[in-house]
Amino acid sequence: MTRGFFNVPKAVNEPVKGYAPGSKEREELLATYKKMISTTVDVPMHINGEEIRTGNTKKIRPPHDHQQVVGQFHNADKSHVEQAIATALAARQAWSSVSWMERASIFLKAAELLAGPYRNRMNAATMIAQSKNVHQAEIDAACEMIDFFRFNVEYMTDIFKDQPASAPGIWNRVEYRPLEGFVYAITPFNFTSIAANLCAAPALMGNVVVWKPSDHQAYSAQVIVDLFKEAGLPEGVINVIYGDPVMITDTILASPDFAGLHFTGSTTVFKNLWKQIGNNIHTYKTYPRIVGETGGKDFIWAHNSANPLQVATAITRGAFEYQGQKCSAASRAYIPTSIWDEVKKQLISQSNELKMGSPEDPSNFVNAVIHEGSFDKIASYIDAAKKDADAEIIIGGNYDKSKGYFIEPTVIVAKSPTYPTMTTELFGPVITIYIYEDADWEQSLQLVDESTEYALTGAIFSKDRYIVEKASKALENAAGNFYINDKPTGAVVGQQPFGGARASGTNDKAGSAQNLLRWTSVRLIKETFVTPEDYKYPFLG
Ligand code: NAD
Repeated sequence: MTRGFFNVPKAVNEPVKGYAPGSKEREELLATYKKMISTTVDVPMHINGEEIRTGNTKKIRPPHDHQQVVGQFHNADKSHVEQAIATALAARQAWSSVSWMERASIFLKAAELLAGPYRNRMNAATMIAQSKNVHQAEIDAACEMIDFFRFNVEYMTDIFKDQPASAPGIWNRVEYRPLEGFVYAITPFNFTSIAANLCAAPALMGNVVVWKPSDHQAYSAQVIVDLFKEAGLPEGVINVIYGDPVMITDTILASPDFAGLHFTGSTTVFKNLWKQIGNNIHTYKTYPRIVGETGGKDFIWAHNSANPLQVATAITRGAFEYQGQKCSAASRAYIPTSIWDEVKKQLISQSNELKMGSPEDPSNFVNAVIHEGSFDKIASYIDAAKKDADAEIIIGGNYDKSKGYFIEPTVIVAKSPTYPTMTTELFGPVITIYIYEDADWEQSLQLVDESTEYALTGAIFSKDRYIVEKASKALENAAGNFYINDKPTGAVVGQQPFGGARASGTNDKAGSAQNLLRWTSVRLIKETFVTPEDYKYPFLG
């Protein structure tokens, strides 16, 4: 029962902790890491609030120490998927009609729990099983997830406030109903916060969810489940299943009640899902919402008016943080001849300082890539670049998977702007640079725009405002998140809503009202106070 138009707490970004040497927060986080890595977890599925253990398990291993086992998770068979769907639909009745304040309160509480007692556990889980250093874990698993919860509550109320005008004698209102059915969330390995948000955003709007996390994020997914539970999320609202993605997806997409897909992952998987949904369209009770954020080949473009040190720093941070495994990571750069020597000098000097190893040692800037498949793929492109006449490796190029999946930050200089590593998403610590003649800067913008199918993030560097304006215009469709004189990574919820177009996704901007709107189906209600009783209009005479 609502007895007031309530305001929600003003959302503010969670401050990023520094974890400087000697600080209490660093000591506590590292102690949690040590404790967690020396025990094992048994991660069940969660259906209707119950923990489901099938015995069909997969091991969880830290990418930086793949012989160690830190736990296992349990996989579904078809019956579990069907159970998860049935459970979600059963929970829908109560969840979709409970007051929005109750739903808001759960996620606001989750934000505060994560800012406090859950912070170290969420960060440590992300460091261990996704191989993120202290800072990368903090900005993702703690701060971004907290921001998603807080800002989405505010955006939800902004949406609710958007109401139509009413002419005299009538009252028009719109109701933001949840979708009629359930939402399927498929999440990637690389951001713990994205995994949580892909379930939480539809749930906040009153939807019920079946969630299939990435196998490589199961460890921190369990912490998310515990967090939601402690925050008071009712049973059955978010159901978690692991296992064969094809079997799970086939079962889910065959359900007439499938009402929406919230996906983040690679482009090919998303395109196939879209096709499968299209093929099944006659099965569904409603037209499913399809929201997908996918791959990228994110660029840094510099003009000769750019500051070479700033360009080099953007490349080092933008390409090598989290081993280049951010969807926004810079993986191709276009540098003019006249500043290249200086950019190169600075890049070499910065790269020489980067340490690589386990996240347990916070001085390591670079940790391991996520799994052997990824390691082998990236290594094969590096090997090819070593042999190709069209490419030269000027930094890094070494890799070693004996203990963990370690790949040195690598810079390839390509003679051709269409060299494979200039156009293919590798999802690793590798950037390819194309050097262009200063006078060809306009043609080089065309190369940036047309060389790949993607349009996720991109950055331009110049001190000349005319150039900034021209480049911004020339690249207006080349990136959904466009940066001027800054690296193309590190979007903050509430400040830089995130998403790309073209083959990079539906650009529904995670962490914004636009995304939340996709999980609603508006009902317009018109009420007339004095209802007409004569059918004749004046023009009838
Ligand atoms: P992935 O596509 O391998 O996996 C993503 C999810 O899809 C996982 O849960 C996986 O199990 C599932 N999946 C795989 N095959 C499937 C199938 N046939 N049917 C149904 N589900 C299937 O991606 P990943 O390696 O986890 O993440 C990296 C990719 O995600 C990169 O391409 C990256 O650019 C992209 N990404 C994009 C954004 C963005 O906002 N645009 C954010 C993060 C990651």
